[in-house]
Amino acid sequence: MTMQIYQREQDIAVAAVREAARLCQAVQAHIDPGVIEKKDRSPVTVADFGSQALVCRMIREAFPGDPIIAEEDATALRQADQASVREQVVSHVQALRLDATPEAVLDWIDFGDAQAYSERFWTLDPIDGTKGFLRGQQYAVALALIVEGQVQVAALACPNLPIHLDAPGGKAGCVYTAVRGQGALRLSLNGSGESEVVRVSRLEGAGQARFCESVESGHSSHSDAAAVAERLGITAAPARLDSQAKYAVVARGDADIYLRLPTRPGYVEKIWDHAAGMLVVTEAGGTVTDVAGAPLEFHHGPRLNNNRGVVVTNGPLHADVLAALHAVGVG
Ligand code: AMP
Ligand code: MG
Repeated sequence: MTMQIYQREQDIAVAAVREAARLCQAVQAHIDPGVIEKKDRSPVTVADFGSQALVCRMIREAFPGDPIIAEEDATALRQADQASVREQVVSHVQALRLDATPEAVLDWIDFGDAQAYSERFWTLDPIDGTKGFLRGQQYAVALALIVEGQVQVAALACPNLPIHLDAPGGKAGCVYTAVRGQGALRLSLNGSGESEVVRVSRLEGAGQARFCESVESGHSSHSDAAAVAERLGITAAPARLDSQAKYAVVARGDADIYLRLPTRPGYVEKIWDHAAGMLVVTEAGGTVTDVAGAPLEFHHGPRLNNNRGVVVTNGPLHADVLAALHAVGVG
């Protein structure tokens, strides 16, 4: 029997984001809308740490030598005044991992504390799109393996994403996964059913394109995107959604373009916000660059130090989008 390259990494990555997604769903189910109004971020804090504990535990057990650059670390959670949050994290993790002691959970979170670039490492966003999570909308658990600066494996759980953007309702939630050179797949969130190959749209005329962007105008300039859209003759309103679900939506052809345009000088994108989504899109046939058309560089540590913004398209539209960005003074 021949094993495909990175098969085991992909299987473990998918299992890890599925388990983390279950924890996130359990936490999200109990968010009290009144609490959100009070700007209490504790539900997302609990889910963030719980998700990171589960994913890092699974990666460390399967690949003990691999560093993990994850978004969180347990320093704050170890403080005495965090006892209540800590207990909630531990109890949510124990619901899925009976053997989890409080000390073990903190240690698992800290498996994700790598900072430096290395030849082979994982990167994790335990909850990407925290604002969407709190609103009961889109968020993702995003995990990727980077080897020699190239993203090789991606697993992206989108627990609230409907199968088609235009047909919300019905059962939501899926996992997107890819191995470099092997295409992109959609899997179920719970492990049932068959996998499906996902492909970007074939659209060639920018005027008919649909683009997506962040809900948060502080994360991506809505006004610059509107100027680009106008220049391209796009009349459809943008789809706004949180998290790397935007990459999934382009990968499966629901949207043709995802624009992430700088809102202020000096913001540098984080690798965990892009690594998994980027591979899913490129393996689905799409193109991902920064606003100047340069490839995203994953060999600088936790940040995309050499890139500004992100531009994602189905491929055929990429040159037109970059030209429009340039024309409006962004690219
Ligand atoms: P989104 O859900 O697409 O709005 O993106 C969420 C991510 O935006 C978070 O994970 C943050 O790491 C990232 N973020 C925070 N501030 C900024 C900013 N000023 N520009 C771009 N991304 C940001
Ligand atoms: Mg994020």
